[in-house]
Amino acid sequence: MTKFCPTCANSSDKVRFYGNFCEECTKRKFSEDLKEKVEIIRCKRCGRIRVHGIFVPPNGQNLSEAIKQGFKGKDIKLIDYSEGNADIDLSEMTENGTISVERSVALSYKKTLCDVCYKKACNYHEATVQLRGSPDRVEKLVQKLTHYLEENNEFISKVESVDNGLDIYISSKKLTTAFMAKMKFHPQMSYTLAGVRMGKKVYKNTYALRL
Ligand SMILES: [Zn+2]
Ligand SMILES: [Zn+2]
Repeated sequence: MTKFCPTCANSSDKVRFYGNFCEECTKRKFSEDLKEKVEIIRCKRCGRIRVHGIFVPPNGQNLSEAIKQGFKGKDIKLIDYSEGNADIDLSEMTENGTISVERSVALSYKKTLCDVCYKKACNYHEATVQLRGSPDRVEKLVQKLTHYLEENNEFISKVESVDNGLDIYISSKKLTTAFMAKMKFHPQMSYTLAGVRMGKKVYKNTYALRL
């Protein structure tokens, strides 16, 4: 039976229909309901963006996920993007089939500090590694340590030159311990009470190592 679109009177003999409406009107209605701007939460220091509560590198795949968060129940394919704009293919499954439209959305950025940059900004540290010995070996180890920490999203918050070596302040004692184990080092440990958090005593670890 031929159907006529109630909006534009097009006939189902000529164009595709989604339920009672023609394709064109369905897509127009679908487009009208879509927002034109998506807010992306971005760290003002490192540029990473937040997707599902976690800060990740701002590549196409992650940006696509971040945009998707702004369009509940819809599927997104990122076609192209720039700083302030993204061309996307939006689709949604309906009882009458999948509707998809190509759209350009404006990207606005909410500036924040990610967890890592926030800690960096306040010189946060849980561990100190005291490296003593040959400057050459000390420097090589600092490079390895820096690389290891960065790979695991932690960081060195401060380096101090002292007699015969360096004191390295590190954001995570858990990761510092893991690094020592990986390198098969057996540092001399000491612990300083740093405060009380949620009724539990919190200690800062010091790892003394002679190279
Ligand atoms: Zn129509
Ligand atoms: Zn950051």
